Amino acid sequence: MARYTDAVCRLCRREMEKLFLKGTKCYSPKCPVTRRAYAPGQHGEGKGRRSKPSNYGIQLREKQKVKRMYGVLERQFRRYFHMAESSKGVTGKVLIQLLERRLDNVIYRLGAGLSHAQARQFVRHNYVYINSKRVNIPSYLVEKDDIIEIKNKDKALNKIKENLELSKESRTVPGWLNFNKQELKATVIRLPEKEDIQATINESLIVELYSK
Ligand code: SF4
Repeated sequence: MARYTDAVCRLCRREMEKLFLKGTKCYSPKCPVTRRAYAPGQHGEGKGRRSKPSNYGIQLREKQKVKRMYGVLERQFRRYFHMAESSKGVTGKVLIQLLERRLDNVIYRLGAGLSHAQARQFVRHNYVYINSKRVNIPSYLVEKDDIIEIKNKDKALNKIKENLELSKESRTVPGWLNFNKQELKATVIRLPEKEDIQATINESLIVELYSK
């Protein structure tokens, strides 16, 4: 799968928000968003010289932010939008639900991965089992009652423990997941709701953008 290879901190600075794309470094006071709270660009382009963004600009930024947050590229993101649009639910809410249900996101939400990229790596490296079957597809969508286990973890165990320790201050396991940290085993007790997400997302802006 194609991935962003750009310096990831620029992506956060572009959105002027911490997107937690770089693991441990995101928890350091040296995080560029903490130190330079303006968009990147030559000569301090982002320091208040920009004109007021258009509606389209605001919608586009929201879509880009959410894509970057979940580490999903345009084609896949648009596919989630079409799935949400053709579902019976409210498009924006279903879109967020689909993104949240991705397996790499679940590993991230549990705190086992400090970034979506790291969580994706754990999935790809065959550490994750669902209902006792190995699943190494980061985009796999979890269902209610699924049991997610991190196994074959000897090599990564120290890293995962360190991640759980680091993330416990800034992130809580969302209410739709029941996580046993000792056993590294989680159950999907219900599907996620918008309220479960700690980040601020205005999904209606994304719906407006794609509905043009
Ligand atoms: Fe970089 Fe992480 Fe800070 Fe984003 S949150 S700017 S990825 S250190």
